[in-house]
Parts: sequence; structure tokens; C-alpha cells
Amino acid sequence: MRNCLRFIRSCHFSLTSTISEWINSSETTINKAAFGELNGHYNLKHNKNSKKRIGEHTKKLWATEGTTKQRMIEGLRKSGLAQKGKLKKERQTRFCEVCGQKFIVIVTSPQKFCSQSCAGKVAIKKATDIYVGNRLKIHEAIKDYIIQWSKENREIVLETPLNKIKTTIKPLLDDIQKHFGVKDFRVISKAVFGEDRGRKELIKYMKQVCNEKVC
Ligand SMILES: [Zn+2]
Repeated sequence: MRNCLRFIRSCHFSLTSTISEWINSSETTINKAAFGELNGHYNLKHNKNSKKRIGEHTKKLWATEGTTKQRMIEGLRKSGLAQKGKLKKERQTRFCEVCGQKFIVIVTSPQKFCSQSCAGKVAIKKATDIYVGNRLKIHEAIKDYIIQWSKENREIVLETPLNKIKTTIKPLLDDIQKHFGVKDFRVISKAVFGEDRGRKELIKYMKQVCNEKVC
């Protein structure tokens, strides 16, 4: 029995029958086993009869003994065969959240993307969203600041002729640079209008604020 078992192991002809023989032998332990080239019977073939006999025996075991399968699996796990990929952990097919490509992972994997490249795209998008979000907040704050400033300097704003805009808005622009770190006029115009419309439109807007046409 024991010799036969070692023989079967060495031949690798049927993993299932090997396991069942091993499980059902009281003499074998995993430590005693000699695998592959280390085994004296390495490379020898089983004859047809013994193959058939073992095969039938295994089938019977699987069919009749409810716990045999479980014991086989446990045995495999302990023997390290699971780590060799002969007993796979449960897999799951997922679709990449970026490109939609299919990929297969073990069910417990946290992986959401098919590749490093797709995961990277998400990281960049997140960073961009935060950046854009912050920029929008700054734009909003600049617009509010211009509205408040216009109200507080109502007379100056209303009296500013359209050819003397620069003088009037210079202190406003200085304040904006001080508070928000923004000195590019195009950015300031964009904060108010969503696009660059130039100084003339800005002062018109400020006059409207003073006339309470804008809140
Ligand atoms: Zn992908």
C-alpha cells in the first residue's frame, strides 16, 4: 500500500487518486513523502489495471463518503499544493472601472482596475478634481470679494469713467493678490464671468453691483 502510494505520487498520473490514497493511508504523513526526482520510482509508469482500480476506488470514495472530498481539500491545503496553484482560491470576474476591460481576481481582492495604468488615471483624476474644486472655491471667493469691495467703494466705482478704470481697480487688484495670491487679471475676470472679458466689463459689472442690479 505504502509503496504503491509513493509510486503513484511519483508518476503524477492522477492527482485525485494520489490524494485519496494518501488520505486513506494510516502510514503516510506529508513529511515522509518523497516527491519527484527524489523518489526512487520517478518516471515509472503505472500499468492500466492499477490505474483503473485506483480510479474506481476514488470515484467510490467521492460518491459514498460525504466528508472525503473535504478531507482531500484539507489535505491539499496542508501539503502546500494549494500554494502551487493546483487548488485555486475562488475567483471572480470584474470589469475595470476606468476602461471596462474584464479581469479576474480572487474574490477577496480589493482590486477595482485592470492595470496600474488605469489605477493611475483615477489617481490623477482625483487630484485634478480636488485642484479644480479648490480653484472654483477661490474663484467664488474672489467674486464675493469684488462685490463687497464695490459696495464699500460705491462712490468711486460709480464715478469711474471707462477710460480711467486702471486707477480705480488698482487697489482692488492689490487686495485680491494679497488675499488670494492671484494677480493675473484674466483669472480675476474669469472668477466673475467664467471667462476673460477685460477691464471694461469688470467695471461695468461693479457699477451694476453698486446700483444693486447684481447681488
Ligand atoms: Zn482598465
